[in-house]
Amino acid sequence: MKHKVLATLALLLGGGFVTAHAAPPTAADLIYTGGDIVTMNDKQPSAQALAVKGGKILAVGDRKAIESQHKGTKTKVVNLAGKALLPGFIDAHSHYFSSLTVANQVNVYAPPAGPGKDPASIVAALAKFKERNKVPKGTLIQAYGYDENVMPNGRLLNRDDLDKAFPDNPILVGHVSMHGGVMNTAALKQFNFSAETKTPPGGVIVRKPGTNEPYGLIMETAWLPVFASLPKPSAAQEIEWSLAGQRLYAEAGVTTAHEGATHAEDLALMQRAAKGGGYLIDVITYPFITELEPILKANPVSGWGKYDNRLKIGGVKVTIDGSPQGKTAFFTKPYLTGGPGGERDWPGELTAPQEAVNKAVKAVYDLGVPLNLHANGDGAIDAFFKAHESAAAGDLSKDRHVTMIHAQFTRRDQIDKFVQYKVTPSFYTLHTYYFAEAHIANRGKEQTMYISPMRDAIDRGLKPTNHTDFVVAPLDQMFMLWTAVNRISRAGAPIGPDQRITPMEGLKAMTINSARQHLEEDLKGSLEPGKLADLVILDKNPLKVPSMAIKEIKVVETVKEGRTIYKRGA
Ligand SMILES: [Zn+2]
Repeated sequence: MKHKVLATLALLLGGGFVTAHAAPPTAADLIYTGGDIVTMNDKQPSAQALAVKGGKILAVGDRKAIESQHKGTKTKVVNLAGKALLPGFIDAHSHYFSSLTVANQVNVYAPPAGPGKDPASIVAALAKFKERNKVPKGTLIQAYGYDENVMPNGRLLNRDDLDKAFPDNPILVGHVSMHGGVMNTAALKQFNFSAETKTPPGGVIVRKPGTNEPYGLIMETAWLPVFASLPKPSAAQEIEWSLAGQRLYAEAGVTTAHEGATHAEDLALMQRAAKGGGYLIDVITYPFITELEPILKANPVSGWGKYDNRLKIGGVKVTIDGSPQGKTAFFTKPYLTGGPGGERDWPGELTAPQEAVNKAVKAVYDLGVPLNLHANGDGAIDAFFKAHESAAAGDLSKDRHVTMIHAQFTRRDQIDKFVQYKVTPSFYTLHTYYFAEAHIANRGKEQTMYISPMRDAIDRGLKPTNHTDFVVAPLDQMFMLWTAVNRISRAGAPIGPDQRITPMEGLKAMTINSARQHLEEDLKGSLEPGKLADLVILDKNPLKVPSMAIKEIKVVETVKEGRTIYKRGA
């Protein structure tokens, strides 16, 4: 009432006082208009204009109304020129920390993402890298993305291939699952593997046929000590590498990244880099269960779930099996092609016995923090539900903010338990493209057709997310969306067309649903007043192009809290 009186008084005093420079009461810093605004808000799915002030969304709606209410003299009006504005992508699961080193490693992904089609091509890529970077003798050379499933005639990469070309450098070719790698003799020596090394439970050390000598490939628990002792950036490189890693995410339109299995010293590095201003985007880290003790000592749980210099500890990561393409995922039925070391009747195995899984899940529930649980095979998914039934006895349906990472080989009958126990599946539809042929060979057609069953999950009321698992698969959000909508394999075959989802559902799985997974739904994931101005501009609207063209859509610009952090071609 008082304001109305003052306004009337101002009018009575004459228009002379209202100068041309006067800004509206809530002048925006920015107004986006002139293109499709896809909000991910069911109550207002599209809009003509979006106003930003102080890093937050001020208003979404009709262009005329927004300009008359929020366009001040200093407001910058951004013409989208027919492009599409969406909420910045929220990464449901990837390995952010690995992005720091990817810039310094050799890409040996299988085509089309890389050159790794056979052992010779991998050796050639490594040699090129060594030459270009003038790597001195004795220095470790690392590669990422090795996929044995595309190797011709089952001719796998081994230590002999690497020794011939690199007698004087330790070589470590990371497996595409990130759960292992192939080493040459120098690296095996550096990481203490020999004929005398016993294979630990839950681990794989492939031996040279007819001998006990390691043949190069080390996986799962046998790999963990290698992973833990890999070289880390120097103090001077920490911020530089963090920014380089985050630029990869920004280029992909991602404004919140996930770090899906963090070790204590890596967390300390991330905290130093964040404090030093090395963060462009938000990063949510999930400490690995095996590192919980030192991490809790340095980071009391009371500080979890809050951002500090763009870094937040989200909860705990528990991994209970391996990867289906590495044949280390745990199933109720054996692989059709045996185990990774030639084992027969091999169903894979849990990385730890059921009692240990129960204990780990109970420990996370007792802390009262979100759980990200890695399970791929239907046997591992059963094992988690058993652990839940033991740890959550008394109140099985309480929302404990549990996300099952991958949940790839979910059986039809297991969907009920996701619903009943309020577990969010974070699926991995990129496998319908990258690994479908391998899965058909290893697991059969019927199981492969049902991988990452997003359609059934959504129809049963779940709010699944979808992820790249970068660096396991390339960080390409539009390609991920394309796989969820089309489900077509590398060889061009439809993979479970009945599980296809709509582009809108696919976009929700990487925006509002993943915001919900991270308990950030009130701040992120849709374009609504009060939420953060975390935005992505795409050259085309994914809801309007033919579904097969979604993978051609390019990220043009990425905005974090009103500030442009990536611009294509700039
Ligand atoms: Zn992962």
